[in-house]
Parts: sequence; structure tokens; C-alpha cells
Amino acid sequence: MKLLEERIKADGKVLGKDILKVDSFLTHQVDFSLMKAIGQRLADVYADKNITKVVTIEASGIAPALYTAEALNVPMVFAKKAKNLTMNDELLTTEVFSFTKQLTSTVSISKKFISENDNILIIDDFLANGQAALGLLELMAQAKAEVAGIGIVIEKSFQTGRQLLQDKGISLTSLARIASFEDGAVQFASADDS
Ligand code: 5GP
Repeated sequence: MKLLEERIKADGKVLGKDILKVDSFLTHQVDFSLMKAIGQRLADVYADKNITKVVTIEASGIAPALYTAEALNVPMVFAKKAKNLTMNDELLTTEVFSFTKQLTSTVSISKKFISENDNILIIDDFLANGQAALGLLELMAQAKAEVAGIGIVIEKSFQTGRQLLQDKGISLTSLARIASFEDGAVQFASADDS
């Protein structure tokens, strides 16, 4: 997605050898018009797949997932990282290792929101080593829901996530694919929607 690649070039900051900071438009401050375009693009790719719900993980997956859900006219459900007192329903639960925080957290979704009748589109902001995506796939498997595919805003193609998901035979659509960070500059591979 050209608009997204241009925004990453203009405002993304490379941290160390493998982190991209995009807090001015995606992970902290959010550009709703870019998110709306991202949501529409991902929805277009899965428009004929009879998606019943869009699922993501808090916090930074929520913005692109919500616009994707709006474009598909289905609900968006996000996995929560901490159990709180109001979540006394039965839960789908798994552990996810966070690449950026370098710690494992328990993530949950109430059973009442996902069922075996659902056909799910998973959305996330980044794909690195695929642990967040695997965690969401595990929650969907616990609910016996179908997963039609995974839509990613920014994939770092030099990490292991893409291969991991492809080996599982899952449809993957990444709107921006980063081949490498060379001397702090982002080099793109061709995106799945181009
Ligand atoms: P994975 O689970 O695929 O290893 O990592 C994906 C998750 O880690 C995403 O949900 C995202 O929150 C975070 N993440 C991974 N790499 C980056 C990065 O380069 N920048 C930012 N801002 N978040 C990242």
C-alpha cells in the first residue's frame, strides 16, 4: 500500500536493528484517515470470504481492526492482555510472548463473543516473529471458529512470522513489507496487496 509505505518513510523511526517506531500515526497517536484507508484495503482483500468478525489484540491492533470491521460491516473483538474484575465470563485464554516488551502475558477473549459459527479475519499492527498471531489463532481454535486469514499493517519480512504462518497454510496479507533496515533506512519488499 503506497500511502502506508510513504508514511513509514516519512515518519517511521528505526530503533536498533529490528524495531520500527510508528507512534505518530499507528501505535500511540493514530491517524484515522490512514487507518480508514488501511481498513478498507484489508476489507477489500477479504470481501468475498464471508467474514463474521474481525479479531485483534490490544492495544495497537484495535485502530486498524476497527476500520476493517467497519468496512466489512461486522463486529470487532480484541483480546485483552490483563484480566479485570468485569471479565467474569468463561474465557478463551492463552499465553503470548511480546517481542517489544520481551515478556509473556496472558491474553483472553470472552467465550460469548466467538463461536464455532464464526469465520474470523485476524488483524494486527505488526508481524515480527508471529507470536501475537499464533496466540490469536490458538484462541480461535479453542472456540472452534474458522480463520479466513490474517491482515497485517506492517510486516518485518526479515523476522520469522511470515514463514511460520505460511507453513500453517494461513492466508496472509501484509500492506507494507519491510525487507531490511539499512543504516536506519527502511527498505521495502513488495506488499501482498500490490
Ligand atoms: P510478533 O508477535 O509477531 O513477534 O510481534 C508482533 C507484535 O509485537 C505486534 O502486536 C506489535 O505490537 C509488536 N511489534 C513487533 N515488532 C514491532 C515493531 O517493530 N514496532 C512496534 N511498534 N511494535 C512491534
